[in-house]
Amino acid sequence: MALLDRQRGIRKPAFLDAALSFRTRFTPPGEVPPYEDREGPDGLLRYKYRGEDPEHPENVALRRAFQQGLPLIWFVGIARGVYLPRYPVWLIADEREQLQFVVALDEAQRLIEPGDAVDPERRRYVERLTRLRLHQPVFRARVLQAYGTSCAICQLRHRSLLDAAHIIPDGLPQGDPVVPNGLSLCKIHHAAFDQNILGIRPDHVIEVRPDIRLEVDGPMLRHGIQDMHGRTIELPRERSARPDPNRLEARYEEFCAAA
Ligand SMILES: [Zn+2]
Repeated sequence: MALLDRQRGIRKPAFLDAALSFRTRFTPPGEVPPYEDREGPDGLLRYKYRGEDPEHPENVALRRAFQQGLPLIWFVGIARGVYLPRYPVWLIADEREQLQFVVALDEAQRLIEPGDAVDPERRRYVERLTRLRLHQPVFRARVLQAYGTSCAICQLRHRSLLDAAHIIPDGLPQGDPVVPNGLSLCKIHHAAFDQNILGIRPDHVIEVRPDIRLEVDGPMLRHGIQDMHGRTIELPRERSARPDPNRLEARYEEFCAAA
């Protein structure tokens, strides 16, 4: 049985009366999504109704899943026609006036009372869970997809050994989990980049720190690190997915300061 309906926003098999899954289409970096799913004042995510009619069959099927407390699958677009499933998730409130449902991404978020009251500590907790359950896996999937599941520095292709590295670290201004702030790197090159053992120039040339270039050690240092000096990183074919030059430049300055 298909879990995703490619023609519609939700999947409701004929023999069920409630929805089984819903989806958010991929929007390329820099474009405005048709439906903006945002966090509410309580930190919980909102999923927008299909259109403006609360009685549209898709909205009714989702409402039934909410009323019956049924788990759902959320398919999040990571590239055109490619989705990352998140499950189980639940709809925990129906905000008809704002034409949206409130989504809980795990059991802990299910216990949160949706509403306006903002307790900053509770909100931070909810947002931390959202980062863990949604933003981090979606960022990783999008970055790996953009780079053809390959390390931009050494072209290693083992998915389990690849990370989505932030160019500007998480938590800093400009450090958001968006593809132009990402690089697909293997574990070694991710750590080497984060620790300024190597840097990436704004023209995409790899530089190994001068003191590291002089070191004598085993084959990993020799072939895995030193031999990368002067090579160019592999870029995503899709222009909008390439590293943001301003972020690369800011990060490269940091590398030079550490060298
Ligand atoms: Zn690598």
